[in-house]
Amino acid sequence: RVLGLESLAGLPSETADCVAVNLMINTGLQTDIIRSKDTGADGVGLFRTEVPFMMLGRFPSEEEQARIYRAQMEAFHPRPVTMRMLDIGGDKSLDYFPIEEANPFLGWRGLRVTLDHPEIFIVQARAMLRASLGLNNLRIMLPMVTSVGEVEEALALIHRAIYELNDEGLKVETPDIGVMIEVPSAVYLMKELTSLVEFVSVGSNDLTQYILAVDRNNPRVADIYDSMHPAVLKALKIIVDEGKAANVPVSVCGELAGDPLGAVALLGLGYRSLSMSSANLLRVKAVIRQIDAGWAETVAAGLLNIDDPKVIRSTLLLALQKVG
Ligand code: PEP
Ligand code: MG
Repeated sequence: RVLGLESLAGLPSETADCVAVNLMINTGLQTDIIRSKDTGADGVGLFRTEVPFMMLGRFPSEEEQARIYRAQMEAFHPRPVTMRMLDIGGDKSLDYFPIEEANPFLGWRGLRVTLDHPEIFIVQARAMLRASLGLNNLRIMLPMVTSVGEVEEALALIHRAIYELNDEGLKVETPDIGVMIEVPSAVYLMKELTSLVEFVSVGSNDLTQYILAVDRNNPRVADIYDSMHPAVLKALKIIVDEGKAANVPVSVCGELAGDPLGAVALLGLGYRSLSMSSANLLRVKAVIRQIDAGWAETVAAGLLNIDDPKVIRSTLLLALQKVG
């Protein structure tokens, strides 16, 4: 089965009944560009910009950031590259910007940090916008969104960066801006959030952690951390339905999207865009090309009535084995 996956790279990512599914990759390191070259990905659904920040012993300058971002945008042009604003705190800290807290996942994380330090935010936004000059395949994504006010603040900062650059004679274009849905409050705010942005992307790793109140990195509770928990699946269903109602594209960029079973569940819930590590892309594509979207929808509807995540997985697996 694994042999010959490379031959799928050039084939369309669509189901057997011809429903197109956008398959994108998650990147962070510069080398991810090379690794993803042969996957035929439709673009970058998540560039974790904190990775280059972690590699350096200090905050990268605007020039340094722009060079790194430009390399990503050039490599995938004309396909979109979704750059996430710095998402530090939680489990990702910078040696040169230590954050010490009793509950880091509930603390100063993601947008909370950069909105308290608008100078970090503005420099990063300027670097992204400058890097996109002449390419215009940039999409900017906001992490750890918990309320509408944060998004309004972030949008104002991005627009300030655009204004500054235009004022300096650089004719940068306004990119599509989106939010990550990875905190339960954001699920309940889908209507309000979709009225402010051009796209949303579900961070299923954090969403699972916060819905189930299970630390995603704590081995002691690892067996109850499961993105196939019915409560998570129900949240995923609400998000995709609200996105459709608002006519705002919705995708998933957490690990669930790169797990073949997870991808089938997401397809069945109504998702048509998934972003994953490049190592998983062709495997997911192989599965998607073998199944009908209508079939996945029927299966997923049934999953929502099952209480046990393990039974949800085995039901999915059994259904998949039956068709191929
Ligand atoms: C997520 O939370 O699902 C996500 C994609 O972001 P990260 O794993 O970087 O927190
Ligand atoms: Mg996250």
